[in-house]
Amino acid sequence: MQKEVLLNSIELENCVRSLTNTFIQRWDLYPLQLNDGSYVCIKKTLTMSHILSHLKGEITLGCYVLNEQSEARFIVFDADDQPTWDRLIQMSTTLSQRDIPSYLETSRRGGHLWIFFWKSIPGKTARSFGKRLLKQFDFSTLELFPKQNELKTGPGSLVRLPFGIHRKTGERYGFITPDGKALANKTEDQINILTNPCMVTERAFRKIMHDPLSFDQKPVPIPIQESSESLSSRIKDSITVYDFVCRYVDISPTGRGLCPFHDDQHESFAVNLDENYWCCFAECGGGSIIDFWMKWKSCDFKSAIRDLAHILL
Ligand SMILES: [Zn+2]
Repeated sequence: MQKEVLLNSIELENCVRSLTNTFIQRWDLYPLQLNDGSYVCIKKTLTMSHILSHLKGEITLGCYVLNEQSEARFIVFDADDQPTWDRLIQMSTTLSQRDIPSYLETSRRGGHLWIFFWKSIPGKTARSFGKRLLKQFDFSTLELFPKQNELKTGPGSLVRLPFGIHRKTGERYGFITPDGKALANKTEDQINILTNPCMVTERAFRKIMHDPLSFDQKPVPIPIQESSESLSSRIKDSITVYDFVCRYVDISPTGRGLCPFHDDQHESFAVNLDENYWCCFAECGGGSIIDFWMKWKSCDFKSAIRDLAHILL
């Protein structure tokens, strides 16, 4: 008999609650794993008793990564083979040194790395954080969940809800530490740890988003005779408006903040992440990082170019 089943009902109830708090993003529908390992979307309300059955191993659930508002509270990297998994474990250790806590969960062929955020953030922001990590670790082939920036037709990507039994292998996979030991000996203790997972703070998040990408920014010598036109486009190509402006203005991951150019009480300052420009809704202006610098330093175009070439190139 499996020891796992010996939990009393109160302990099980607590486990169910913990699992839902940490992993369940929506209740209006849920993914159910079939015996071949694939999932179907059940368009019925998810209930606590489903989660209970999942823990008991009677059914196996997945969890959708985005909620109905296309927000994510976590991202997951999926390693499908042993070498990739080994690298992912390494990455987890390095991340913790950079204040990015993460959790390693074993799976059929490799494993998942879970990273939790301090709050739900737009799927697009979560993905750009994930992609940035992958770039910094030169790890472009790794699968990142959510796979969608935002939901359009269906509920989007899902991952296996932890602590269930994989229908295909019949095994229950748990969380491990980077040195390969179980995160805790018993499943319920692992669940307890995941009840309040260590999360990426807003501060650590921003730091990752603003750090230079380790692998792609080699200094390029500036030719003496370069025209200011080509120099200005090189400056603009060297960094996004968001990444640059963040160094000087306190803005949220979605690009809003108090305008540094007027006495602002309403977060009038915004960076458009898609179109790569900044603006102030109280008419302080807007544009590229060169426009920003001219305003910031109260200087002309020529000195802005000179300063920025020095800072960025
Ligand atoms: Zn302003």
